Amino acid sequence: MTAMPERTPKRYDVYLFDLDGTVYLGEEALPGAIEAIRALRDAGATVRFVSNNPTRTPEAYAAKLTRLGLPTRPDEIVTTIGTTVWWLRTYHPGATLFPIAEAPLCEALAAAGFVLSDDPAAIDVVIASYDRTFTYAKLQTAFDALWFHKRAILIQTNPDRYCPFPGGRGEPDAAAITAAIEACTGVTCQASMGKPAPWLLRAALAGLDVPPERCLMTGDRLATDIRMALDARIDAAVVFTGETRPEDVTDAYAGIYQLDGLGDLLGG
Ligand SMILES: [Mg+2]
Repeated sequence: MTAMPERTPKRYDVYLFDLDGTVYLGEEALPGAIEAIRALRDAGATVRFVSNNPTRTPEAYAAKLTRLGLPTRPDEIVTTIGTTVWWLRTYHPGATLFPIAEAPLCEALAAAGFVLSDDPAAIDVVIASYDRTFTYAKLQTAFDALWFHKRAILIQTNPDRYCPFPGGRGEPDAAAITAAIEACTGVTCQASMGKPAPWLLRAALAGLDVPPERCLMTGDRLATDIRMALDARIDAAVVFTGETRPEDVTDAYAGIYQLDGLGDLLGG
């Protein structure tokens, strides 16, 4: 990646955006975000949204963005629901799954033909995710499948510690579920379906005939959004409306654009 000290990014053909902490916080659009994305679209750019959050379907995200003033189609959104289904179909076809997950991911896995089971003797893959219905019973099932029967593997939808909310608040995310399972079983999570792994990026760019240097990834988290882009040699912009503060941008992230809001993407 070449040095990009200038504050205003150049124009790209494809803009990839994280959602939570980048386009909105909770139910509130971040200042200038909707207007900036509309302007980029109006100028002819292609826009895709890539979210580690598996608690909503692309249809639900499209409806939310449309409600916030940004008309969006489900196929413009890629989440860890899609990458989890794709990864399991590719690497563990026919596996019996125990998703510690909310309904949208469970329904997508079932619709893809996977058997879902809470029988620890039958489970091949335990999936840790952002699950606000997490219980001790679910932890026990994962423990029995991984520690007692020793036949299952552990994967996670995403590595995020928490999901940012307005007012500096947040909600525990999939890292907490993963850590609980790893702590009691001694088993290590084998794969992550979310940023910074490349799966969301590949899914978002699939079908778009564009070279990497014409794409910009913008997000609020260095270790996920920005790391994924840099690993794929795609230009990156961190926006200080979520987790990251300017002082967090270390030399490991030298050359990325630094934005106070998505409005900084315009111009240039
Ligand atoms: Mg985010």
